[in-house]
Amino acid sequence: MSYKNYPMVSRVVYGRGSFNQLNEILSPKRLSVKAPFIFLVDDVFKGKPWLTSRIPLSYEDKLLYISAEEEPKTTQVDALVEQIILDYKERPSGIIGIGGGTILDLAKAVALMLTNEGESKDYQGWDIIKNPAIYHVGIPTISGTGAEVSRTTILTGPVRKLGINSDYTPFDQVILDPELTKDVPKDQWFYTGMDCYVHCIESLKGTYLNAFSQSYGEKALELCKEIFLEDTLSQKDAADKLMMASWHGGMSIAYSQVGVAHALSYGLGYLLGVKHGVGNCIVFEHLEEYYPEGVAMYKIMRKKHNISIPQGVCEGLSDKEFDIMIDVALSLEPLWENAIGKNWKKTITREKLKDLYQKM
Ligand code: NAD
Ligand code: ZN
Repeated sequence: MSYKNYPMVSRVVYGRGSFNQLNEILSPKRLSVKAPFIFLVDDVFKGKPWLTSRIPLSYEDKLLYISAEEEPKTTQVDALVEQIILDYKERPSGIIGIGGGTILDLAKAVALMLTNEGESKDYQGWDIIKNPAIYHVGIPTISGTGAEVSRTTILTGPVRKLGINSDYTPFDQVILDPELTKDVPKDQWFYTGMDCYVHCIESLKGTYLNAFSQSYGEKALELCKEIFLEDTLSQKDAADKLMMASWHGGMSIAYSQVGVAHALSYGLGYLLGVKHGVGNCIVFEHLEEYYPEGVAMYKIMRKKHNISIPQGVCEGLSDKEFDIMIDVALSLEPLWENAIGKNWKKTITREKLKDLYQKM
């Protein structure tokens, strides 16, 4: 038995207003006046000076607004890397992602691909990356995915939706400033928050569970219950706690694995472009068989916050399309093994998955 040697984020700042320390944090990391910092910023912040005016641009630094409408693609990563290489003679001093999981994953992938040859699709998988990434910083503006702590960056490529999982993927620096999440729309708050909740359930109910994962997972679940079920928290406290729940949920799956909901949600994402958070919710509605208590509590949360979940997303799909989703879901073997156990293939059949997808 060999145990994972898990790389963690090396530095983290937490606190309301900590975003103001960005300049102080970055300055010592500048390699030269010709080596810029590149800021990848969710375009939802375009024309929002309360955030953008605090981004410290000097010398040849560049701010690129990126849409989070769609999840990151390998082609998008490659195009960004090419643009950066063409625009600058020197390798950048760092990549800073400011946004949700979509932008954080893009920032990680661009930082990796600036030092690794070829196309990002060739690195989708586990430990294919050879060279350390350039310095990269993650600043989440919405809480739940755990992308701020994970060793993966999930990309949609030509043949699969799969992460670049490597020891060089985690951020060198994370800034956790819950104030940045203040304008997240309610539905999106719930969807991305439920990503964290689902991480907890899948980790805590999985066969890979161990004391390391459990200690983080239980804390994250406790925070989720406070945030989504109780009425006593102020909005500020809830935002502070959700940012930490996301962190702990990410740490929990880091040393275990996700499960049925994520496997099925990846299928929806790959074929239909359904985004991760809402995709997990769509799937989780139908998973009583696997996570009875977790699903029951999820439904109470959804009702309490009066959130509507898209229905009928698989209506009218052809058999071929169902097959594509089923192939994607079944290819994620560790997720099934964690959820069901070593003999998962006995119960998780194509018919079973088709039956589940048809309900969504
Ligand atoms: P997101 O980044 O896709 O953003 C969702 C929406 O919220 C977007 O419209 C965005 O513009 C908006 N938004 C973000 N911050 C906002 C703010 N402060 N105010 C107003 N609007 C704001 O959402 P997400 O759920 O955080 O990320 C999903 C992505 O994360 C997926 O691509 C998924 O694959 C990835 N993911 C990665 C990991 C990982 O470990 N790397 C884990 C889970 C999910
Ligand atoms: Zn997730």
